[in-house]
Amino acid sequence: MNAPPLSPSSPVLLDAIVVGAGFSGLYQLLLLRDKLGLSVKVLDAAQGVGGTWYWNRYPGARCDSESHSYAYYFSKELLNEWEWSERYPQQPEILRYLNHVADRFDLRSDIVLGTKVQSAHYGDTDKRWHITTDTGQTYSAKYFITAVGCLSSANIPTISGLDSFSGQWFHTGEWPHEGVDFKGKNVGVVGTGSTGIQAIPVIAEQAKHLTVFQRTANYSIPARNMPLDDAFKRYAKENADHFREVMTTNTNAHPFRLSERLAFDFSEAERNQIYEEAWLKGGLQFRASFKDLLQNSDSNQTAADFIRNKIRQTVTDHVKAEQLSDIDHPFAAKRPPIDSGYFETFNLTHVDLVNLRETPIESITPRGIKTSTTEFNLDVIVFATGFDAMTGSLLKMDIQGRHGVSLQKTWQAGPLNYLGLQVPGFPNMFTITGPGSPSVLCNMPPAIEHHVEWITNCIEHLQKNKMDSIEASQHASENWVATVNAAANETLLPQAKHSWYLGANVPGKPRVFMPYPGGFLRYRTTCEEIVNKGYAGFIVGSE
Ligand code: NAP
Repeated sequence: MNAPPLSPSSPVLLDAIVVGAGFSGLYQLLLLRDKLGLSVKVLDAAQGVGGTWYWNRYPGARCDSESHSYAYYFSKELLNEWEWSERYPQQPEILRYLNHVADRFDLRSDIVLGTKVQSAHYGDTDKRWHITTDTGQTYSAKYFITAVGCLSSANIPTISGLDSFSGQWFHTGEWPHEGVDFKGKNVGVVGTGSTGIQAIPVIAEQAKHLTVFQRTANYSIPARNMPLDDAFKRYAKENADHFREVMTTNTNAHPFRLSERLAFDFSEAERNQIYEEAWLKGGLQFRASFKDLLQNSDSNQTAADFIRNKIRQTVTDHVKAEQLSDIDHPFAAKRPPIDSGYFETFNLTHVDLVNLRETPIESITPRGIKTSTTEFNLDVIVFATGFDAMTGSLLKMDIQGRHGVSLQKTWQAGPLNYLGLQVPGFPNMFTITGPGSPSVLCNMPPAIEHHVEWITNCIEHLQKNKMDSIEASQHASENWVATVNAAANETLLPQAKHSWYLGANVPGKPRVFMPYPGGFLRYRTTCEEIVNKGYAGFIVGSE
């Protein structure tokens, strides 16, 4: 006989609730449940596991980390049994991988899908987190852990008239599972970040006509994706320890190290030869060509000029070439995209480019997009307009800490936090890859593994020492936000004025540099030192 449905009035009592069943949530469940023996449930609004990779199904969606590094490294068996097929994994393959992980480690029985967390309130009296969901089921847990991803809250621009549009419109981060048929259609894509740059060449293959609406021109490096041969697959497995060592001891958690070279230690011809080799190799390693590209404006300019020249050489139409290469920020000050045929796409006669800096969008009409000069007739509009990054998904939940103080209030001036792991006033709440952590400046899986293991060790420490709670102190949190911003100011990163790193892509969002830019190794070392000093900056104790 099936168990009777749980009554919404009786909360499920647990040790821990984890929100989100992507890379972070799956691993956090595994460790808390199987290593610490806690009772845990993962809640996720989606109908499947996968997190970001469940939702981002837009044409061309693929990761720009190389597949052998875009994986969990905690299990040798898992590393050995999984085969990636291409240099960069496509979204369906990553989703298959995460489903495999869920099955292999028997995680599904503790994952509750189709369940959106509406609120999480800390009880001052019982010292527990009380969670409500859209299914009516409620939960009560000692630990509340958010694993909601950094780029999961779609940023849909508020352009007047969108409701009146008679065609179809989509945001890339909420793509329909059945796909979108672009055949024979006039399509408009708004946005030329990493997502737009991936989607535009693929949509162009199908659409009758494609109009790309560009507000800010972007650098992009060829990905040079290719199928992986058996020799490389074997090499990656045999050298897994080496890759893990490199990823956990460098600045960006990728399986390569930043060069020790400085751009001006070389003649112009030598430097361009180095860039040329990196361009042919493709991928994110281009930005590792010289050590000082993100520190020294003149050095950065050499990379920027090299890429601008490549754009002008690739794009045959002079006007399009100028608009695509008229880039207003230093190279890599915004997340640098990598592409498969992005600039080449603008040589197709059915692909047009609209420069929104010259002719901004005024409204959306029943027929399409109206700029200051022209109304473009469209059947489909694709918004590749990014995310309310790092804080959006957290602030969408009604989270309240001690004395009913909301996260919205605590973060009014920006995401106050300690190490990107905890927020003052929110005891026993942890934010995996939260704002203030290196996360999005890194290859994500190693960053996630580090956070999940840190949180697990922290909870184990509390349990062993009969301690009940841990909470970031106000002082340590304020210092940490200052540390993050000081580290950003040592680089050229804040010079990208519209960047989502700064929250500048969302109207009204406070301008605070959110990810920690001091490097993954430095960050890991800091976290370790803090633990060794008895969780310095945290208030740990029995209540
Ligand atoms: P994004 O980098 O924020 O880019 C959004 C684009 O939309 C920008 O070109 C932006 O222009 C434009 N835009 C936003 N609002 C607009 C408006 N109202 N009117 C006109 N244009 C508007 O977002 P994303 O491309 O989705 O990428 C976000 C992040 O996701 C990436 O940086 C990366 O970290 C991750 N990502 C990774 C991969 C991968 O691994 N391969 C793929 C996709 C995304 P402005 O620049 O002028 O604001």
